[in-house]
Order: sequence, then structure tokens, then C-alpha cells
Amino acid sequence: MTLDTALERALREQTPLVWINPQRAPGIPAAGPAPSQLAEAESRMGRAGELLADLFAGAASSPQGIESPLQSADALASCHPLLFKDSGPLFLKRDDMLPVAGSIKARGGFHEVLALAERIAQQQGLRTDPGHLLGAEARALFSRYTVAVGSTGNLGMSIGIFAAALGFRPVIHMSVDAKQWKKQRLRDHGARVVEHTGDYASAVEAGRREAGADPLSHFVDDERSMMLFLGYAASARHVVQQLRDAGRSIDAGHPLFVYLPCGVGGAPGGIAYGLKQLLGDNVHCFFIEPVASPCMLVQLASGSDHPISVHALGLDNRTEADGLAVGLASPLVAPLMRTLLSGVMTIADDDLFRCLFTAQQQLAATLEPSAAAALSGPGSLLASEAGRRYIDALAVAPSDITHLMWSTGGSMVPAHEHAAFLARGRALLDSEPGWFWRASSDAAAHGRLP
Ligand SMILES: *Cc1c(COP(=O)(O)O)cnc(C)c1O
Repeated sequence: MTLDTALERALREQTPLVWINPQRAPGIPAAGPAPSQLAEAESRMGRAGELLADLFAGAASSPQGIESPLQSADALASCHPLLFKDSGPLFLKRDDMLPVAGSIKARGGFHEVLALAERIAQQQGLRTDPGHLLGAEARALFSRYTVAVGSTGNLGMSIGIFAAALGFRPVIHMSVDAKQWKKQRLRDHGARVVEHTGDYASAVEAGRREAGADPLSHFVDDERSMMLFLGYAASARHVVQQLRDAGRSIDAGHPLFVYLPCGVGGAPGGIAYGLKQLLGDNVHCFFIEPVASPCMLVQLASGSDHPISVHALGLDNRTEADGLAVGLASPLVAPLMRTLLSGVMTIADDDLFRCLFTAQQQLAATLEPSAAAALSGPGSLLASEAGRRYIDALAVAPSDITHLMWSTGGSMVPAHEHAAFLARGRALLDSEPGWFWRASSDAAAHGRLP
């Protein structure tokens, strides 16, 4: 491992930091999926509206398919007028409101399960239009197949619910400390939930092993799945249109900064990749990771594709952001981020709850801790020396930068659980009046505010 000594110390001490990727380079990595694969994924996601209406009655059906609103988040800037005095507009992408799974995992999960259904139907000579995929013949066929996945929670919910709805037999491998309500929700949908004593990686490994032994089992591999990646990437075109509709067209003089919470890297990596395809060097993607689980930062900063886990730095991968509690970055995604990603910020757990409370109070957004991480992005960047330098080097007016925070989950969290999250955030904020973003108070203390 060849981490810079100062960086390694900050990571070991779990000091929140802004890391700018020194290997960032223009263009799109050649090793990634082809534009034709992206187009195919977009068209598959485009059939979601029709399928959902038939698969799920009531609340879970969604005429616009697997899509979410874009919301102005300028209210956040007013929480810290000094830090944001020359900033461009802030937006929140509300994937916490996605239908069926209530998280960003609805995108990847729907895409992979639908692609699987189409492939199996095709192999058996059945037609793959929505009418036939949902017909009795296809259903009988799918009922012979197991769809397995290893998950910290949200991916399991997404795969489990979509797979069950199409007639597959879902098996979800989870770590024992995954949230109880997520396991219960899955069992209610008819999924088999297998609990494992280790963390996320061992749940994935166990699932991969069990499914590998069964030819009628498909394993959704969160660490290596191109189908998940493409489902996320297919979100790019719609959000760019939403920004345009909100009066923010992206071009060289008006770049887009995107802040994405990162676990294994599939969801944020897919979105970053899709946005790069459309916007090229006018989009700048930043990931947010918990200080105990900065797996993508560690992988990219190591300068090598040789897998390196956060445990190698003495970190324990324990965080309340269960969607981000991943110790080892995806070996599929990390190499694709090596030149594409602008940087990574880390966040302490207490600050997740401060952000979660702020999201509710300022934006009426009910988020889970993983999703709340996104809110820290613009503040951390603007308040840090590394972030200011990055912005200065672009030679555009800060007010011409559009900031997009990607909220990744929350609408399915039970009310009593969310109330406890809010109470924790409120208590933390009460104990430190004037706090907005950790990095901002640090920077202010060092006289580094613009
Ligand atoms: C899974 C998840 C993420 C991160 O996605 P990865 O593909 O694991 O990087 C972020 N937020 C929430 C709520 C999630 O469930």
C-alpha cells in the first residue's frame, strides 16, 4: 500500500476530510460499458412505468416508472450564508422517494431483475414484452428460479420485492446486524432471509457460494454486477433534463458538481458514469463515505487495483449509515472511477444525524443516515482548502456551479425509527449551536472561509 502518510494518519484517526483525486483525467474510461449498453439500459428502465402498474397496485405503482423528483435545496445555503455567499444553486435528487424500494437500489435492482427475466424468457422462446413477461406462462417459468443477493439491507429489499413480484424465489443474505425492519419487510414479501454473523462482505460471499452450486439460481453480485451499474447509469438523462427544466443547463461555463453517498460504489459509480457520458468534463462527481468505511477513497488513493480493505487501516467499518457500511470497494467499479472521480469526502456518524435533521427541517426530506451524507458535500467542499483550490482551478465563477446532492434512501424507514434519528440529530445540533457542516466550522476556526 502506498498511501500518503498524512492522508493515512487522517484516515486512521477518522478525521473527516476532503480528498481530491490526483489521478483525475479528462474523458471516459475505455474499460467501461459501451454507449449501446447504456442505451439498452435506458430503454429497459423506460418500460418500468408499464410494468410497475401491473406488478404493484396502489402506492408502489408509479406511472413515471423508477424516477424521482428534483428539488431545490437553496434553503441549505441560508443555514450558512457566509460559506455559501457566492455559491450557485443547490438541488436535492430525491431517490429516497423512488417507488417500491424507497431507495436508490430500486434503479439497479429493477434493471437487473428485469434483464434476468427477459433473458430467461428469451432462452425458452417466450416473448419479452411486458404483457408476456407478466403472463402465466412466464410466471410458471420464473418460479423455478432462485434470485439470491447479499446485502446490507436496501439492495435486498429492492431485489427481493421485484423478484418476488415477477414470480422468482428470492433469497436474501444479510448480516445479523442489518436493520430488523428490513428483514421483516422482506419476509412479508415472501423472501427467504438468511442471516450471517460477519459483515456485508461475508453475506455477499455466502450468497455467491450458495447460488454458485445451483444452476437455477441467479446471484445478484453487488460487488461485480454490470447490470446493477447500468441501471444506475440510466438515471443520468432524466436528471439532466430535470436540471434544464429548473433553468440550469450544464456546459463548460456552468459545470455540475454531484455529491453521491458511496458504499461498494455501484450506485454512485453508475450515476457518475452515466453523467460523464452525457456531460463529459462539465460534470464533477464527488463521493461521500463514513469515516469508518472509506473504501473507495482507500482503494483509489492506494493507486492500484489490488483490493485494499479499510480494515488494513485499522478501521472497523461500523457506522449507522448501513447502506454505506462496506469495507472493500467494488473491483468492477473502482477501476472505472480511477480517472473519472473528482474526489471523496468523509463524514463522521454524528454529522450524518445533524444532516438528517437539517434535511427534515429545511427541506422536508425524510432521509436515512446513508442518504443524509449527501447533504454534507457542498459545505465540505466549499469550506475546505482542497475544495476551494479545486474550484479555483476551474476558472468559473462559483455562482455558475450547480450543486446536486443525491439523496439515496429513507421513505421506507419506520416512523418510530426516523423519530429516533431526528431526536439524535436535534440533540447534537442543540449541543453545538451554529454548527452546520463539520468541515465548515473547522475551516472557520482556521480562518479559511472565503
Ligand atoms: C446502497 C446505498 C448507497 C450506496 O450504493 P453502493 O452501490 O453500495 O455504493 C447509498 N445510500 C443508500 C441509502 C444505499 O442503500
